[in-house]
Amino acid sequence: MIAVVVGVPGVGKSTVVEEARKHVDIPVYNYGDFFVKAATELYGIEDRDEIRKKLTADQYKALHERASKMVKEVAREPIILDTHALIALETGYMPGFPKFVLEKLPISLFIVVEADPEEIRGRRERDRGRRRGSGPEADVETHQMLNRVAVVSYAIEKGASVFIVKNEEGKAKEAGRKVAEVLKKWLDGLRS
Ligand code: ATP
Ligand code: MG
Repeated sequence: MIAVVVGVPGVGKSTVVEEARKHVDIPVYNYGDFFVKAATELYGIEDRDEIRKKLTADQYKALHERASKMVKEVAREPIILDTHALIALETGYMPGFPKFVLEKLPISLFIVVEADPEEIRGRRERDRGRRRGSGPEADVETHQMLNRVAVVSYAIEKGASVFIVKNEEGKAKEAGRKVAEVLKKWLDGLRS
């Protein structure tokens, strides 16, 4: 079973998940890592940013097929899946969970990590090792708003719940604690 964690790039998903995992024992996987693995295996592409630029829509779909199969394998036990609800591209917002992926995966919880847009821009600026925030990703307000829309529509499809957590500046530990509480209850629910 899968608890999905989403949020715009640089909001602090991975940080908050690591904080949560100090309180609750649950493995985490990053969908992007599976996606890159699939891109390497199928097309010899290793760079995350090259995937969007070089591949056709059909090839992109093939990566989703392969990556979601890998996720399904590891999701025999409860896992956290760190990923994106919507990917901001030049051509518009692309769902992180197209229907054929959503159908395949056993998801029963969505956690949306949000923060003040200005604080997110600051985090992206400081975290220079990563390429984030240029082009369509710059409109954090719209992206965060549409993430909620996307996640609720995914949740309706899956009968899953949606938990929204604010990752305030300097308070990733607190956000992590809230996420851990939700994950504990989610795990209890799975066992009962
Ligand atoms: P991506 O989608 O690109 O993987 P992410 O949402 O996982 O991004 P992180 O890598 O966790 O984001 O965090 C981005 C940067 O923001 C990091 O430098 C991290 O240390 C910092 N950060 C995370 N949470 C907070 C916070 N509450 N206050 C200040 N800085 C934070
Ligand atoms: Mg991350």
